[in-house]
Amino acid sequence: MAEQTRQSLVATYGSPLYVYDLERVDRAHADLRAVLPSPSTLLYSMKANPHPAIARRLRQAGCRLEVSSAGELAAALLAGAGGQELLYTGPAKPLAELEHAVAAGVRAFSVESLTELERLGQAAARQRADLTALLRVNGQGATGGSGLRMTGIASQFGIDAETLAAHWSPERMPERVHVAGLHLFPVTNARSEEQLLAELRAAIDTAAELARTCRLEPAVIDLGGGFGAPYAAAGSRPRYPRLRAEAEQQLDASFPGWRASRPEVMFESGRYLVAESGTLLTTVIDVKRSRGKTYAVLDAGINVLGGMTGLGRLLPMRAIPTESAETADDVARVDLAGPSCTPLDVLGRDVPLPDARPGAILAIPNVGAYGLSASLNGFLSRPLPAEVLLSGGRVVAASRSEMRRVHATFGEGAPR
Ligand SMILES: *Cc1c(COP(=O)(O)O)cnc(C)c1O
Repeated sequence: MAEQTRQSLVATYGSPLYVYDLERVDRAHADLRAVLPSPSTLLYSMKANPHPAIARRLRQAGCRLEVSSAGELAAALLAGAGGQELLYTGPAKPLAELEHAVAAGVRAFSVESLTELERLGQAAARQRADLTALLRVNGQGATGGSGLRMTGIASQFGIDAETLAAHWSPERMPERVHVAGLHLFPVTNARSEEQLLAELRAAIDTAAELARTCRLEPAVIDLGGGFGAPYAAAGSRPRYPRLRAEAEQQLDASFPGWRASRPEVMFESGRYLVAESGTLLTTVIDVKRSRGKTYAVLDAGINVLGGMTGLGRLLPMRAIPTESAETADDVARVDLAGPSCTPLDVLGRDVPLPDARPGAILAIPNVGAYGLSASLNGFLSRPLPAEVLLSGGRVVAASRSEMRRVHATFGEGAPR
């Protein structure tokens, strides 16, 4: 993004500022669509970025939406989706949340345990609605060997494949709930096409074996995703030149009717679709030397980017603004500190930054997924930054979320 564009955007909408380029969303979608088996359905996982305009763009491109909370459901409806085109997922769905979703028109749920299947039956009965469930399966994964032995890893997600094989019977289907298929989500952000293909193969195998053992004739198999994307540093989306042919071949072998959508094959993606669309603009507020180190203190920190990594979970945060010049050796190395009152608020360490001066506007690329919404938004109670949408190089919308304290009444409003 040109220096002048940055300056004028920040002058208008403030700093820090999230900028999303909708054409990049289109491009990512087209690239992913081109390498997926055909026919198949692609779901956009709204947790990557719940901005309604982004979800709207992906719906227009042909995606269905996957939501996991009352807030994401509301955002999906704002994006123009009807409840019946959503898939509702997540490991903890209380009865009130299920009922709220059904009342909003949602009909398809991924079910994470046999207990939850019963609860979905209660929601169906109370709302007098006919629902569809996908059983979420914790498979063995690519490294777990074959067969339904207990070789996969433990997980709070889904039902272990061997448990399902041992305990499933069609009588478990509550009235008004039709178990239509299986949902597998073996990997996120796969590090290579190799790994992605291996996990996909394992997922198809597990689905085929469960369909046999449990005598399910799945109308749907949701194979999840795992499509990678760069995060908060330069880089491009991975290419998957072998994916389509290999997945189609395996589907032919395991689910011969899939080309006629029996079963319908689904995939899910968050980060691949939206990571590249987002850039965080942040202003250098101060530059200081301390005992041999240089700090660039920014107006953006773990409150707006990578909060979970800032807390020391997952990998340490390593944001690299586009200004960074990794190759030049004479460039000063700085730590990028955020505005929060904790030494953990560091977006990057030893980042080569040629021009660290107060007032400089830095651009952190590839933060359209797991950026603002995955951060410690409430920490230190700073106002949330504006989010600007570009299309055709022009600003088409600008808005800001707010966290406000409102009067709480038990049972009022959307379930949490
Ligand atoms: C998080 C999640 C996704 C999206 O993962 P990405 O790595 O962003 O593509 C898809 N499906 C489910 C069930 C998820 O929990």
